[in-house]
This record gives sequence, structure tokens and C-alpha cells, in this order.
Amino acid sequence: MELIRTKKELGALAGLRRDRGLALVPTMGALHAGHLSLVELAAAHGAPVVSIFVNPTQFGPEEDLDAYPRDLEADLRALRPLGVEAVFAPDASEMYAAESGVRVRPGPRAECLCGAGRPGHFSGVLTVVAKLFNLIRPDAAVFGRKDAQQFLVIDQMTRDLDFPVRLIDAPLVRDPDGLAMSSRNRYLSPSERERALCLSRSLAAAVETVEGGQRSAAAVERELHKGMADADAVEYAECRSVPDLRRLDELSGRVLIAVAARVGPARLIDNTVLEVGPDGAAEAGLSATEVE
Ligand code: AMP
Repeated sequence: MELIRTKKELGALAGLRRDRGLALVPTMGALHAGHLSLVELAAAHGAPVVSIFVNPTQFGPEEDLDAYPRDLEADLRALRPLGVEAVFAPDASEMYAAESGVRVRPGPRAECLCGAGRPGHFSGVLTVVAKLFNLIRPDAAVFGRKDAQQFLVIDQMTRDLDFPVRLIDAPLVRDPDGLAMSSRNRYLSPSERERALCLSRSLAAAVETVEGGQRSAAAVERELHKGMADADAVEYAECRSVPDLRRLDELSGRVLIAVAARVGPARLIDNTVLEVGPDGAAEAGLSATEVE
């Protein structure tokens, strides 16, 4: 497994790209089993390459850029057994020559949910993903369904700017008690972690009501809010259409049920994607053609 720290060294990927094609997994490090599942999925689509980069342009001025966990050695240890061909782990100065520069402006899918509460966040995400696509030139890129809106915003950029990359969304990985895995879970004390379970529990209850026949988005959203009383502040709890993230009155077709809340020092997100029909509902993915 090769550790690449500079853009110049990325030339080493040419042979792999030619032989097997490259499947990129972009991450910010502090890897957990959710990230590793993306790497395993990537390996089915090409030679897996993982980027580890805490991208400053996607953090707001009041956010946790400095506190964000970084442990490159542990990350490399976790990736080595997975057949990863290369890890690209540049410094911020390698990726961004100057504080201000050209940024990608996201499309309308970025306006709601996390985009509403984190101004500039998706512009930073798209800017770094566009740079990674140009630098690594992967054939496929794998993103987690945990960040469902992020996947859909990147999907819109990839189509609108004609990046020749196939996007694959990977299922959300949870701890055994249901908490969605996140590098930010490290910020939680044991009692905060217990309270954080209200996100996954309220989502599971919402899914049950939809499976039971509830089709009113407002009723589901009311249930979600009620279920998250243990959070310190609920940022949103909404049902949106997939892929365009429009507000819904009635639930039908592919639907994203998404929540964000602050528990102690951590801002946490969780979601479920459902395919809702007249007679039932089943978990679904985000890609136009689903790949598992
Ligand atoms: P991050 O390091 O948080 O930027 O995440 C890197 C990638 O891993 C993104 O595509 C995330 O959606 C994905 N990811 C993070 N947590 C999970 C999880 N619990 N399950 C699946 N994918 C995840």
C-alpha cells in the first residue's frame, strides 16, 4: 500500500488506472467500520484508492476543524489488510495554494437540510471532490448513504460538470445499538452517547409508521421531533424526495427521512431512504441504478 502525500506523486497511479481502473473512497480519516465498508465495496469496482484529507473549506468558522480527530497511523493500519493500493493524504497547503480561490457552487439540492444550517459546507465538499476527481481520475467513487444529501449534491455536480466517474452509494453502517457510525461519535461522553440513540430510534419508529401505512410527511416529521426530545437541539427532521430533495406532503416513491441534532458537543446526522409504494415501504439506495 503506497502512501502518497503530494499531487506530483499521484503519477504512480497510472499503471493501476490502466490495468484495473481506480475506485476512489474520499474520507476525512479517523476511520471506522463504516469507512472500511466503503473500501470493500470500492474493491469490487477497481483498484481501491483512499484519500484522507480533513478539508478546511467544508468547515464553517464556528465548526470543529481544529478539534476534528486525526490519526493517520491508525488509519493506515486499518486500511492495510483491505487490499488498498494507495492512500492519498495531502496537507492542506498541498491542496489549497491560497486561502481564497475558485470554489464550486452547488446546485439546488444543497439548499435544504445540512446546506441550510451549514452555509458554504457543500461548496467546500464539491470543491475538494472535484479536485480529487481531477487529480486521481478514478473510474468509480464510493460515498456513504450516511451523508445522503452529500451523495445527491455530488451526483448533481458529476452530471452537470460531466465528470467521467461512476458514483456508488454504500449502505449506512451502525453500531450494534443502532447509532450511525461517525468519526464525531468520539466527542460523546457515555451519557451523551446514550442520548444520541434518540436519532436512530426516532428514525426506526418513523419507518415503522410509514410501513404501517402513514403517508403524511407532516405526521412523520411530528413523530421524529417527538422522538428526539433527548437531543440538546434538533436542527431538522424532514421527509424529502430522492434525488431532488423537494419537500413532500404525501410520501410516495423514493423518500429520504433525515434528521440532524446536537447532542453535547457533537452535531449528529442520521437518515433512512425508503421506496414508498401504495401497499408498503422498503429500504432503498440513492443511486439511479442501485449497486450493493
Ligand atoms: P467522512 O470521513 O466523515 O467525510 O466520511 C467519508 C465517507 O464515509 C463519506 O462518503 C461518508 O458518507 C462515509 N461514511 C461515514 N460514516 C458512515 C457510516 N456510518 N456508514 C456508511 N458510510 C459512512
